[in-house]
Amino acid sequence: MSVYEKYEAVIGLECHIQLLTKTKMYSNDVAEYGALPNTNVSVISLGHPGTLPMVNKTAIEFAVKLGLAVNSNIREENQFARKNYFYADLPKGYQVTQDKTPICTGGFVNYKDKDQDKRLNLTRIHMEEDAGKSIHDVDPFHTLIDLNRAGTPLLEIVTEPELRTGEEAYAYLNEVRKLVRYLDICDGNMEEGSLRCDANISVRIKGAPEFGKKVEVKNMNSFRNVQRAIDFEIKRQVDLIEKNEPIAVETRSFDAVNGSTFSLRSKESANDYRYFPEPDLQPVYVTNNYIDTIKSKMPVLPAQLFERYTKEYGLSDYDAFQLTELKEIAAYYNELVSHTKNYKSAANWVMGTIRSSLNDRAITIQRFELKPAKIAEIIKLIDDGKVSNTAAAAKLFPELIANSSASAEDIAKKLDLIQNSNSEDLQGFINSVLEKFPAKVDEYKGGKVGLLGMFVGEVMKASKGKADPKLLNTLVKETLDKK
Ligand code: ADP
Ligand code: MG
Repeated sequence: MSVYEKYEAVIGLECHIQLLTKTKMYSNDVAEYGALPNTNVSVISLGHPGTLPMVNKTAIEFAVKLGLAVNSNIREENQFARKNYFYADLPKGYQVTQDKTPICTGGFVNYKDKDQDKRLNLTRIHMEEDAGKSIHDVDPFHTLIDLNRAGTPLLEIVTEPELRTGEEAYAYLNEVRKLVRYLDICDGNMEEGSLRCDANISVRIKGAPEFGKKVEVKNMNSFRNVQRAIDFEIKRQVDLIEKNEPIAVETRSFDAVNGSTFSLRSKESANDYRYFPEPDLQPVYVTNNYIDTIKSKMPVLPAQLFERYTKEYGLSDYDAFQLTELKEIAAYYNELVSHTKNYKSAANWVMGTIRSSLNDRAITIQRFELKPAKIAEIIKLIDDGKVSNTAAAAKLFPELIANSSASAEDIAKKLDLIQNSNSEDLQGFINSVLEKFPAKVDEYKGGKVGLLGMFVGEVMKASKGKADPKLLNTLVKETLDKK
């Protein structure tokens, strides 16, 4: 047994999601990514004396939507608090957040780790504003400050310390991103910083009643790096314990190049943020009526789609998971199955031929030329035995992309792909093939049933490849059995 197996890790995540509101959390400043630096900064974002902030109603709506999606309790009376600290990108000297009254408490996120269904309980979700951005890598001598981000709305999702591995953290984060995208409240883009995650990690001997000392790791810019940072930390902490060295309670940063973490600052003496109620903001009341209104506007969530695809459409868990990964793909599939009842074939088209075509051309489904109804036409041609699956994917599909307004059947005719599913025509071919190989027919009758494939192949050749293979198989067998 390796020494690491004696231990288990305890991990809790704090995720910040930047909300897709038009304006900031407490002002009318535009909240957009990539604007010219310091152009969306009013006196409210700067916290000038005498200015009055106001709560962004859409941010409340988004918080309630997320709370409903993860089964949280939603608080009625929401207060805001000032969290005081000094930093160059925080011109006000405090961040307006929620301290004692997070809008959501409890709740959980169900996720899949490989094939296993898992659940992570949430501690809370609260609303707050972001700080500005310090830019260290543009000017060699100075730190530049862009305050456009100061005041943009965030939701912070804090989990219970229930994760055990980096892989679980990765899978949970994927689920969170999927969820916020389905809810249309955050674009989930980690590279642009609209989804950020800090990981709290400790280790203990398996089964020990108490948690070990925890370390917080920041600055991971991808889900994979969160996983790497956690894996690194677990090993580092176990190694320290095994050497009888203390684990410092501290904040560390992740170095993506080396896959390691390094100390940023000690946490031994806890920060005193001197929280106090924000005097310039009234509490916000979230009534049951309001919650009901939001409930009635909730979009379908990936878990519900997964359920429908597996239970009603009979798709495999794998197919259903793949189809629901991206909201836009699921929407395409949903429209497709409003035109065809062949759910499995529809799934195969979306996850197979369509997806490869998108990948090859590096485009998203939003830019895909063919409407779902067109794909349904192709599926019908195949199901009616008019076009073979292979010909549909290899020839009909690309030609349709180039002629997206044409009907699938017309293109199939033009390309001479319509296969012969007229049993009388086929019978002619079958009869002449059987006449051509009387000895083989005798062998077949003598019990060498494996010859069936040979006959089918010969008839297919005679039909110049245009016989409907399913029908052909049946007819050849019937004809042989009658002899
Ligand atoms: P802090 O006051 O340091 O911010 P919190 O109690 O607010 O700590 O918890 C922050 C996060 O750390 C939560 O996600 C929580 O689940 C997690 N956490 C708390 N204790 C531990 C621990 N011993 N090991 C790992 N994670 C922990
Ligand atoms: Mg905390």
